[in-house]
Amino acid sequence: MKIIFTVQEPPTFFHILDSLSQWDFHTRKPIQKYYKKRFGLSSEDKQFIEKYTKIRKEHGWGDLDSNFYPCKNFKQVETKLKEKLNKRELGTIKKVINHFYNNLHILYLESKIYLEKRKIILEKEAKKYHLNAIIKEIAKFYKSVNYPKKVYVHLVASPNKWKSGGGANIFPKKHITLEPQNIKKSHSQDIQLDLCVVIHEILHILEDNVSGDKWKKVKERLEKNKLDFWIFREAIADTLVPEGVLAIKYGLLNKEHIPRYKNKKIPSGNSDKYQYFRNSRFKLSALIYNLTKDKIRDKKSIFEGDYLKKCVNEYVKMIKNISLE
Ligand SMILES: [Zn+2]
Repeated sequence: MKIIFTVQEPPTFFHILDSLSQWDFHTRKPIQKYYKKRFGLSSEDKQFIEKYTKIRKEHGWGDLDSNFYPCKNFKQVETKLKEKLNKRELGTIKKVINHFYNNLHILYLESKIYLEKRKIILEKEAKKYHLNAIIKEIAKFYKSVNYPKKVYVHLVASPNKWKSGGGANIFPKKHITLEPQNIKKSHSQDIQLDLCVVIHEILHILEDNVSGDKWKKVKERLEKNKLDFWIFREAIADTLVPEGVLAIKYGLLNKEHIPRYKNKKIPSGNSDKYQYFRNSRFKLSALIYNLTKDKIRDKKSIFEGDYLKKCVNEYVKMIKNISLE
């Protein structure tokens, strides 16, 4: 698999705008906070954000993302938006872009030089670690077939000190985003973490190319037990990378962190959706970590044997214990 890193303005623009709106709990609150402190949020700003949020919610993950992240410039963005939005929506989004353009352009220009530096380092380091060998192991683990041979990684700026993160909801599914860790410094552990995040997001692309209706069956089993399919999938992914078995196996991480997450406290899902999602996912990854380790050692797929059944059982036990607390 060929990994192509890019630095373009629309991805950063969209990433910050999306964070300003906070339309979903996965968007970045620290970015919104930073923007507010730096530029303030006038009532006019808030009106534009409200209009954006309404359209954004109607389209959900994977839709508008795909119109911005893969684009080199705003002309391309507009062409793509025309295919998805009706005239009224398009007009609104164009006004929103114009309204925030100056400030977001400043933030992009401030980060551009660092993003470009990081891009060069990542291109070099990606060769040093055997990323393709990791990707092959992941494909085997998920029984993934016909996955893309080329993947684009769009580097996006986080103007605050936000830790490394990524996203893979972009269609067509060969585009991912990366918020580089510690962008102004580039210590070797920052680069390693970036690569682990990239691999985690590539994992999601591989996961989506699982043959047959294997996930459907898993989803049904989870829903019968009122369990969250996405927490479950992320927990399994986390047992591999960014901090899991494969990160350690390939020298991208030298210490096992995951077992510690057994002690994570899970807040009520009503009080803080984001923390609930995060902590459930981390805790579950700790509970199933050894099961994954065995699978990787045996070079087996998760759909063989009773791995998934055991993982579901751990999830059920975890939820039961929470309600007892
Ligand atoms: Zn993920």
